[in-house]
Parts: sequence; C-alpha cells; structure tokens
Amino acid sequence: MSLSLNQSKLLFEEACAVIPGGVNSPVRAFRSVDGQPVFIKKAAGSRLWDEDGNEYIDYIGSWGPAILGHAHPEVVRVIADTAADGISFGAPTSKETILAKVVQSIFPSMDMIRFVSSGTEACMSALRVARAFTGRSKILKFEGCYHGHGDMLLVKAGSGAATMGVPDSAGVPAATASDTLTVAYNDLGAVAAIFERYPDDIGALIVEPIVGNSGFIRPEEGFLEGLRALCDKFGALLIFDEVMTGFRVALGGVQSIYDIKPDLTCLGKVIGGGMPIAAYGGRKDVMSKVAPLGPVYQAGTLSGNPVAVASGLKTLELISQRDFFVNLGHVTSTLAKGLQQVAKRNNIDLVADSAGGMFGFFFSKSRVRNFHEAKACDIGKFKAFFWGMLHGGIYLAPSAFEAGFVSSAHTRDDVDKTLELADRVMRGLK
Ligand SMILES: *Cc1c(COP(=O)(O)O)cnc(C)c1O
Repeated sequence: MSLSLNQSKLLFEEACAVIPGGVNSPVRAFRSVDGQPVFIKKAAGSRLWDEDGNEYIDYIGSWGPAILGHAHPEVVRVIADTAADGISFGAPTSKETILAKVVQSIFPSMDMIRFVSSGTEACMSALRVARAFTGRSKILKFEGCYHGHGDMLLVKAGSGAATMGVPDSAGVPAATASDTLTVAYNDLGAVAAIFERYPDDIGALIVEPIVGNSGFIRPEEGFLEGLRALCDKFGALLIFDEVMTGFRVALGGVQSIYDIKPDLTCLGKVIGGGMPIAAYGGRKDVMSKVAPLGPVYQAGTLSGNPVAVASGLKTLELISQRDFFVNLGHVTSTLAKGLQQVAKRNNIDLVADSAGGMFGFFFSKSRVRNFHEAKACDIGKFKAFFWGMLHGGIYLAPSAFEAGFVSSAHTRDDVDKTLELADRVMRGLK
C-alpha cells in the first residue's frame, strides 16, 4: 500500500516559503507523525480527495465541524443563497437572534449568548467576563486541555501545543501565565487542594468536560459533579469549554449527558457547520457584564457573520432531527469497538472509546485518565499505524493527542473498510 503524494510535496515546499511551517495551524503540518501534510483539493460526504487524486475516508472532519459530512447539499445551498444577499454587514440581522434562540433551546444553561468567530475568542472572552464578574484574577485549567491560543490559556495546553514540545508558548509573558493554575484532569483531590490554597483568588475553572485535545479522555465518575461543587464552595465560575463536544457527543453536549449546569459555556466547531463562528454564554447576571450592556469589552468585525449564521442554523436544524445522534453514536461506537477488537486479535495493547460522533484510541494497556498517561502511550506504534492507515486511504488525525470524528455521512461500509485496513496495518506492527 503506497500512495503518490508528489503534488502535496511540491505544494508544501511552495507554502513553506511564505507561510510559517507551510500551514495556518500547526497540527496540520504532520510534524508529530514525522511527515509532511497532504494537500486537500475537495471533499464530499465522508470522503476527501488530495491534490494527487488520492481518495480518503476522513475521520478528522475539519477537526470537528463536519458532523453532516463534507459539503452537505442543504448547507452548501443555504450558504450560497445567503451570500448572494450580502456577505457581511457589520450590523445586526434577524438570523443572529434566531440562532441564539436555537442554541439556547439546546443548551438551556445559556441565558444569554454572544457570537464570535473562533473557539479561541470564545474561551478568551468567557474568561475575561468571569474575571470581571468575580473580581478575581486567577484561573484554573487542566493539563492537556486546549482552550484556544489566548495567552493565559497556553499553559500546559493540549492539541498542537502538546506535540510541539512547547507546552508553554514563547511570547507569553510570565506574569500572564502566572495567573493560570493547572492540575491533572480527573484528579479532584488536586483541584480541591488548589482551591484551598487560593480560596479567594480563583475566578474561573475552565474544563473540556470530555477531553478531546489530549486524545479522547472521559471524566471519571463524580469528577464533573465534584468540579461543580468546588466552584460553588469557593465562589469560582465553572466554564465548560464545549467547543469540541457541543453538538458532538450529544446534541446538548456533555452538560446534557451528565446533567450539570456550568455558569458559562463555550461553543465552536459544529455550531457553524464549517463556517467560522463560535459562541460563549451562560448565566444572565454574568453575561450582563459584556459590552455594551456592561463594562467587559469584547467585539468583532465579522462576529455573527450572516453566511456563518445561516450555515450554523441549517446544520443545527439537520442534527436536531430525530435519531440523528442515535445513528451517529452507533456508527462511531462500532468503529471504536471494532478497533479494540482488531487490536486484541493482533495482540496489540489498545484502548478505544467514543461518545456520540467523537472517538479516540491510545496504544495503551489500560484506560487513559489524564494527559500524563496519554503521553506514556506507545507513540511509535501510533505513528506507524497512522501512516499505514493513510497509505491505505484512511485519514486519521496526525497526532496521538487528538480525538477523531465521525459524521452522519459515514456508512457502515466506511467503518468496515476502515477496520479491515486497521487489521492489516496492525498485523504489521511489531
Ligand atoms: C478547537 C478548540 C478550541 C479553539 O477553537 P478555534 O476555533 O480553533 O479557535 C477551544 N477549545 C476546544 C475544546 C477546542 O477543541
């Protein structure tokens, strides 16, 4: 099994001359699998085609947004129709309110919602409001959780930052980073201890309630409930960063599965169906601090962009249909369970798991509970597996520390093909 990637190689060389590392987001560069990226030409449904004409079954889905598969005809049509009436006005439109109401109906914890253009902005802004509301400057996050690239959040962050060897980015002032406290995910005792140490200083705790940016990691029983209780006890706001998990692990995100009400929620990825839009929101008393209603400044030229809003509305309409998540969850768990079985058959230590349309796997003997354990997995095996799969036409995330995504366009046949190839590739792994 081998592909010709000549066009991708040439295009990458050309890109490297003008774009740092040849990419506009680090994980796309394939550095953590010691290779070079594939340049994509087009996509439809569960498939991607690269510039050399190779076809792949895609399990990245643009890192989450493509939950309906690529270029869903209804989404494409609404984007084209909306754009024909003007691409951006920098003025309010009726559809923004409609989208806010739809989001609120799915996430009842969000009394008020502000739209922004990226998950990074959503998380940065949510923290700013939380700090303003509590009058406290410290924030608490978890090692390996990624909340975008805001300065104070690039401390022990996952995703691309996890694999670059620079968990603390250069260019972040020490003073900024010093207000960010970090503990291990799933370690409620450590969270309690840090709250006891700074009882009046922590304004917010931000968490990926199911982690996707250290690979796929589930909260242990009682962990999220414990975070809620500790935040209440110490007067800190609980922020669920559901940029990845919202509309993905279930329609209403992790908070709907565990029935926990965060004070603020960050959304992104699926909310725009592939167009750049994200959101933050939550308690009315907190969100009332946002300008122009309150003193917390936050703005955006393209915020609430009409084309992105239309794409989001159509996407949310389609994924709200009956049984959408039952079917998606079924296909995704068939894949995760299948990977586990294939590994077992080949005497390879692997754990796989899924929730809704999100999945992950680690080359590990036992279940992974935090970033430290994720890093202890067999990364060499991951790399060999990744390349074997890519050359057989399966496009997985090029990093051991990223979750995978299945869309409603993925068929049982796609999964069967994936598992057949996984079996062949694992047979070759020593
Ligand atoms: C992707 C992601 C972000 C950042 O979103 P961008 O749109 O890439 O800025 C923040 N938090 C989580 C949990 C994410 O997965």
